[in-house]
Amino acid sequence: MKSFGYAAQDKTSPLTPFHFERREPGPKDVVVAIDYCGICHSDIHQARDEWGGSIYPMVPGHEIVGRVTAIGKEVEKFKVGDLAGVGVTVQTCMQCDNCKAGAEPYCTKGMVGTYNAKDYDGELMQGGYADNIVAPEHYVHSISPKLNLAAVAPLLCAGITTYSPLKHWKIGPNMKVGIVGLGGLGHMGLKFASSFGAYTVLFTTSADKQNDALKLGANEVVLSKDPAHMAKHTGSFDFILDCVSAPHDLNAYLNLLRLDGTLCLVGLPETPFTVSPFGIITNRRSFAGSMIGGMEETQQMLDYCAEKNIVSDIELISYARLPEAYERVLKSDVKYRFVLDGKTLRG
Ligand code: NAP
Ligand code: ZN
Repeated sequence: MKSFGYAAQDKTSPLTPFHFERREPGPKDVVVAIDYCGICHSDIHQARDEWGGSIYPMVPGHEIVGRVTAIGKEVEKFKVGDLAGVGVTVQTCMQCDNCKAGAEPYCTKGMVGTYNAKDYDGELMQGGYADNIVAPEHYVHSISPKLNLAAVAPLLCAGITTYSPLKHWKIGPNMKVGIVGLGGLGHMGLKFASSFGAYTVLFTTSADKQNDALKLGANEVVLSKDPAHMAKHTGSFDFILDCVSAPHDLNAYLNLLRLDGTLCLVGLPETPFTVSPFGIITNRRSFAGSMIGGMEETQQMLDYCAEKNIVSDIELISYARLPEAYERVLKSDVKYRFVLDGKTLRG
């Protein structure tokens, strides 16, 4: 199947137009014409090989929404013309205990990412900065026509990555929850935690984001660079979700957890952290992590968003502005997710 998109050819060059081939759709596959694709900070980490092992050429993008243009003969959930979304995962073994439990990102054979990955047959996968994608029905999600489609795109990664841990740790009323970093993930975490009824505190390094954080659902905003402001919250949080993309001091957040509190990492800076042993034994604290979410859970999240009218706050941009968008994400200047407009792909 012919595809056209934007690719990184190596870790230093800007992304450029790129013609490539995807596999022909099989009986269980869905073909989606891509209308919009979000820009996740993971796209930048991988395009620039910050985690190591990047495979080029690489068409990034795993926050994909569009319309179904073809279906294989065994496809049951979709028909041509339906709205559909593809996230971070496009293949797992579906045989292991984790897959069977609906925890596909933790597949013991290894989950295959939407891009920068090879599938079980060795074919290089390419992502959503492109005109189309083919994926098995199991990894394609239904999207409600009620919501603004461009603003739904970020739900496929930023949405599910924050929804899943908040659900896993049973966040609800009478809990004090912290969200660290007001970027793409952080602003969705804030919306979900507050919609689940938690008392929600947003930690930011950007003083100019305080009013936005309150509008997005924060009960309180803390400037994390101010030690006195941080100290006021010592030992008081049930749960903190760390959505930061760059190295920072985790101990400052561990110290804010109450008895049996959990600090959960979803941000993926490229270097290891230092954790103080006393910071973790005090209050019997837990330090945890979480990776995107399962396929059924992703559909539940999308349905929840349709019911509650939750979408991402986006800046819709043309493909010509990709380099500028990457630079602004790196400067924490994103309000609060860039989404590429498919109509501008061919200039
Ligand atoms: P983003 O939009 O760039 O947001 C990151 C935020 O972190 C920034 O807006 C900023 O918020 C804060 N920040 C940046 N540099 C900082 C620093 N040096 N010190 C303290 N805070 C800093 O990124 P994103 O797309 O939300 O992704 C966040 C991270 O999650 C990335 O590392 C990404 O790869 C990872 N991720 C993980 C998963 C998963 O499955 N676990 C899924 C998707 C993404 P303030 O301005 O408010 O301080
Ligand atoms: Zn992502």
